[in-house]
Amino acid sequence: MCSESGKTGDTDMQAANMAELLGDLDFDPVALKEKYLSERDKRIRDDGNQQYVEITAEFSRYIDDPYVDPGFTRDPLFDEVEVAIIGGGFGGLLMAARMKEAGFDDVRMIEKAGDFGGTWYWNRYPGAMCDVESYCYLPLLEELNYMPKNKYSFAPEILEHSKNIARHYCLYENACLQTSITNMTWEQSSQKWIIETDRGDKMRARYVAMANGPLSRPKLPGIKGINDYEGHTFHTSRWDYNYTGGNSYGNLTNLKDKRVGIIGTGATGVQCIPHLGEWAKELYVFQRTPSSIDVRNNGETDPNWATTLKPGWQKERMDNFNTLVSGGDQEVDLVADGWTDIMRNLTGIAAKIASRKLGRKLTKGERAELMELSDYKKMNFVRKRAEEIVNDPSIAEKLKPWYRQFCKRPCFHDEYLDTYNRDNVTLVDTQGKGVDEITSKGLIANGKEFELDCLIFATGFEVGTSYTRRAGYDIVGRGGQSLSEHWSEGLRTFQGLTSHGFPNCFFLVFTQTAITVNVPHALNEQAKHLAHIIGNAKKQGLHTIEASAIAEDEYVAEIHKTASSGSRFYAECTPGYYNSEGQRGNTAGFFSNMHGAGPVKFFKILEDWRAQGDMQGLELS
Ligand code: NDP
Repeated sequence: MCSESGKTGDTDMQAANMAELLGDLDFDPVALKEKYLSERDKRIRDDGNQQYVEITAEFSRYIDDPYVDPGFTRDPLFDEVEVAIIGGGFGGLLMAARMKEAGFDDVRMIEKAGDFGGTWYWNRYPGAMCDVESYCYLPLLEELNYMPKNKYSFAPEILEHSKNIARHYCLYENACLQTSITNMTWEQSSQKWIIETDRGDKMRARYVAMANGPLSRPKLPGIKGINDYEGHTFHTSRWDYNYTGGNSYGNLTNLKDKRVGIIGTGATGVQCIPHLGEWAKELYVFQRTPSSIDVRNNGETDPNWATTLKPGWQKERMDNFNTLVSGGDQEVDLVADGWTDIMRNLTGIAAKIASRKLGRKLTKGERAELMELSDYKKMNFVRKRAEEIVNDPSIAEKLKPWYRQFCKRPCFHDEYLDTYNRDNVTLVDTQGKGVDEITSKGLIANGKEFELDCLIFATGFEVGTSYTRRAGYDIVGRGGQSLSEHWSEGLRTFQGLTSHGFPNCFFLVFTQTAITVNVPHALNEQAKHLAHIIGNAKKQGLHTIEASAIAEDEYVAEIHKTASSGSRFYAECTPGYYNSEGQRGNTAGFFSNMHGAGPVKFFKILEDWRAQGDMQGLELS
């Protein structure tokens, strides 16, 4: 995904090869690269991640749960469970499912939201949907005997599926919803975790799995005057339908007489802007960097196709997709969508095809050049699409992304660009500078004040801040050491799942594991792996599991060695959460702590380790 960018035009021999491989290039790669770098330079800021404000204190209302009735109370719990799972999103649900299947019945889910669903509980904004194919993305489809309605599911269906998983595995029975952890402390005498919550609970658990989610803590831009605004305002992950009217499918009737402003044109902004454009009296979109908008092409599930599927089909499809989007080859492309198309052109698959054409292996330089030129071609297509859809050429120009495909998350949408053909919609392109100031009446951008009735922040989620800050609590392990201290110089784990000094505490999600486009795939692999480890230890009558100090050291060294690839690629990218807002040398970018083997090999490493059977690297007692 993040191949090192090479030098264009290394040698004449290579230039000739590229023309042979890619056909005539109707653009000047050197000029394009210069344009990319100058666009990046416009956006680089000294304050990097610090430009955002943490949602605490006077900002806390931005993360209040709008989907629950106020006044919920319950008696505090002082009991004990065998397994506590923190987080009721896909990570927590998969972990619970795999633990139940492994014979663990005493499982308690703890979740701050009012229900299961995680990101799909919070993100109910109009137009919310998943742009990874539903047949791969929705977990446990065969277990639940459920077939999604469309190739790409809309948010309400995904939320409902999450609740159905919880029902199927009886997870409501013992769950603590609307409950946030405040402290988690290892009690050596009982060899259990003491979990304290904002509901006054002080419960014990033998095993704890942390499934807090990678993008769960909303962030706000630290724009001057952000607290001065007197109109209505909210973050997209807490959509206020009482104000806008309507629901996730649109129909925002209350906005008919409103001037609405939205800051942010990432994957979220792209999905909700068409609905705002349809319903608001006036819509102002404040853009700092345009997203890359490729073709969506959604469609209803063909019931005839669904009946042809054989048991095991979902795993087969997920593996096929994962291999293709990780640069591997497959005889058939089962998903055949924008993701697999991009990856076919921009990864090792393209290099393999080129090698076949040339009758020899590509050199490292040739391979990098091929990737870079293919990337330019792909992004030229995306830019041309904006020209073709948007009627006003000057607006189309502002919507063109000038960076390589994976500098930011690719977006796929068939109505977004068309929204800018509406008379009531104004694109306020800030030329990479962002909004200047927020006032009591609206905001100032490009030196001009825009008066607004409602201001919506589609400004994303914290990445690159500390794990414990994002979780909202610290963990105190054996000997009183906190996780924030243990990880003060970076994540320290074994296999991304356990840490020395924190027995029976397991991390799900992107803590030194492998990332893939289909996030639930990675979560499922982690959940299966952990259920295997915990189940095996229990069978042997062992009570504690943790990474040995040596195994952790070795694993951290392996991560640092393998995860460095892509650093040059990201240094040349426009800022965003993928590259820690463009701060070179900062190791907190989204991909900086992942295992460099990539998901296919990484999952195989875990599988081989399980097959070996000796639980090497873990201390068990
Ligand atoms: P992002 O972080 O991707 O986008 C935040 C947006 O806010 C960017 O456009 C950013 O501009 C803009 N912004 C921030 N500060 C300012 C400012 N001061 N002035 C103007 N603009 C500003 O967040 P999203 O919520 O859009 O998406 C987060 C992630 O959630 C996605 O990357 C994706 O992984 C996931 N997602 C997945 C979906 C799916 O279909 N599976 C759907 C939606 C989200 P700039 O780019 O210049 O920084």
